[in-house]
Amino acid sequence: MRTDRSPPEPLARGVRGLLILGGTTEGYALAEALSERSDLRVVSSLAGRTEQPRRPCGEYRIGGFGGIPGLIDYLRAQRLDAVIDATHPFAATMGWNAAAACDALGLPLLRLERPAWQPQPGDDWQQIDDWPAAVAALQRSGARRVLLAVGRQELAPFAALDAVSFLIRAVSAPRPLPAFKDARVLLARGPFTLADERALLADERIDTIVCKNSGGAATAAKLRAARELGVRVIMRQRAPRPPTTLATDVQAALAWLDTNVSKPSD
Ligand code: NAP
Repeated sequence: MRTDRSPPEPLARGVRGLLILGGTTEGYALAEALSERSDLRVVSSLAGRTEQPRRPCGEYRIGGFGGIPGLIDYLRAQRLDAVIDATHPFAATMGWNAAAACDALGLPLLRLERPAWQPQPGDDWQQIDDWPAAVAALQRSGARRVLLAVGRQELAPFAALDAVSFLIRAVSAPRPLPAFKDARVLLARGPFTLADERALLADERIDTIVCKNSGGAATAAKLRAARELGVRVIMRQRAPRPPTTLATDVQAALAWLDTNVSKPSD
């Protein structure tokens, strides 16, 4: 791993520098797909929120840049030529910072983002824009047993609901756990199978799932299980993002790189 303070190695002639803002399945997959490219120096960046993050393939760095000015300084100091924002659909800030920094430096920027899940026939979804709206929807619907899959840092608004029994599913333990009247924590990391999700919803007698529209296959089985079992879903929609060229998968991102940044040499 190179630190932000290490000066960049001189790049061979024709080699271009790419920053991947990662922390997602797509970010890791893109770094892996580019690992053999001799025409690119690829640096993956992680926010550093998880205690033992998966390491991206190739060069990487961990930690915030210090807002837009910090990102501009970093891109300049490391002499990087392009940015791919592959942060999570619910990472609210980094994409805007990347857009502002790339705009200031005149660098090409691509947003790599998996498509959002769409409701299917038979689904009972309520789509909301923020957690207070989800809390209100739970109150209105009279939900009693709720699977809360919103991330361990976004639990607090739900603790006000005394009449609900929560099963909180998270990758790592919420610390501190807000003062729920009735909540249990289930530590689990996807992917989750349909059979396991069916069993979880049935065994726990879940009547409502609250989650974010993250998209992707790893955590989609709960939605199909909910459809089959008639479980209501309160789904937080994605917030607006800066207007940027969008790729919905790694192949499309590779094609964008070939057109806008660098083509692999033979
Ligand atoms: P955020 O609101 O967009 O970012 C907050 C701050 O964290 C940014 O201003 C930046 O700090 C730093 N940061 C975020 N992503 C970074 C990256 N890839 N490399 C370096 N610094 C980064 O994001 P968040 O919701 O806190 O999520 C943090 C990271 O976790 C994201 O990279 C995201 O992909 C991943 N993640 C988020 C979620 C979610 O639901 N939010 C789920 C799964 C994974 P500075 O301003 O100091 O540069």
